[in-house]
Amino acid sequence: MNELEDLYREIILDHYKNPRNQGVLVTPPAVMKEGFNPLCGDEIQIYLQVEEGTLVDIKITGQGCSISRSSASLLSQAVKGRSLTEVEAIVAQFRQMMALHGGSSSEVDPPELDERALGELAALRGVVKFPVRIKCAMLAWSTFEAAISQATSS
Ligand code: ZN
Repeated sequence: MNELEDLYREIILDHYKNPRNQGVLVTPPAVMKEGFNPLCGDEIQIYLQVEEGTLVDIKITGQGCSISRSSASLLSQAVKGRSLTEVEAIVAQFRQMMALHGGSSSEVDPPELDERALGELAALRGVVKFPVRIKCAMLAWSTFEAAISQATSS
């Protein structure tokens, strides 16, 4: 266990114990999507509100393991207040990070992203070593993408 892994574990634990952006938003104008990971029993509800191309607010409720909960918290922190273009870049970057050992190397490089944007999300990098945990980490992200497409299609 090196120092970086210690730091990453602390970040994940911190987001699990003190999840950011917990709660609900009024729908409408917000949209809500639910996700479920039967392999682990993780469940999540994501509320978000998009105004003029910006994700102005995001709230999350649900329950599950530490990886799924901290991933959701890290996601909400990374995307809140950002433009949809930036949000898309963050999601692409995260998906690429999670696919490191997934065998799908055919994807094009995601748009450039400053390190501050990825930030603490890098803490979830260690999850790729445990394939069963990738589904836990991805639950919030796939649910989030579904919510974003619903919010932008109406
Ligand atoms: Zn889980």
